[in-house]
Amino acid sequence: MYYPIMIRAAEEAAKLGFHVEILSNCYWASSPQDAVEWLHPLTKGMNVSLSLSSDLYHGESWETEQVKNAVKAAKILNMKVTVLSVKYPKTKIPCPSQILGVKVGLGDLMYKERAAANLAEEAEKKPWSLFTKCPYKSLNNPGKVHVDRYGYVHVCQGISIGNTWQKPFSDIICGYKPFENPIVQPLIQGGPVALVQKHGLPHDESYADACHLCYSAQCMLRQTYPNILAPNEMYGEH
Ligand code: SF4
Repeated sequence: MYYPIMIRAAEEAAKLGFHVEILSNCYWASSPQDAVEWLHPLTKGMNVSLSLSSDLYHGESWETEQVKNAVKAAKILNMKVTVLSVKYPKTKIPCPSQILGVKVGLGDLMYKERAAANLAEEAEKKPWSLFTKCPYKSLNNPGKVHVDRYGYVHVCQGISIGNTWQKPFSDIICGYKPFENPIVQPLIQGGPVALVQKHGLPHDESYADACHLCYSAQCMLRQTYPNILAPNEMYGEH
């Protein structure tokens, strides 16, 4: 989201009583002083927390200079901050547990989108029939959704349950019927394996993880369910 729009969105959300959390790779934090200027508008009467991405997908080391600058600025401004990292199978260097005293949360690599296209080939694989559960999302009762810049509301990135440009967000959430959704229903009942079986899709014998199988199935189903499996960017198309 472009910076001035992001600031206005945060202000509006705070006015409505929402807790605002901003995720960023800190491309803007070229020095601690610069980072203070970028972050300062978010401290005006708002309780904003920061989740910053720092790992070997974002820089040459686990601790990127930009994230260190942003952490220093957040401390100066007394903002809540955490750092998120994603496992990097090719390195033996361990992920630090803290960056400048800020806790680092280390998450699993999910083999979907760019990770499926670029990293899955070299990953260790497991038989496809093992992936009978979505390991990450409560699709039956999602605790959170993502809304993208085209208005799509996602229960998992690329699985949309409606579009806020066509329907109010509250109607989309209240009208969510996971067991009537041809993508979500099998995923709840039997994970990516059930998605493949329900739609009679071809598959390989092994995959890097559940998301790898799920994403491969979604790519095959996009033509049939273009309003659910959207937008194009989630599937590497522009
Ligand atoms: S890609 Fe599929 S298996 Fe992975 S988190 Fe999303 S819904 Fe679950």
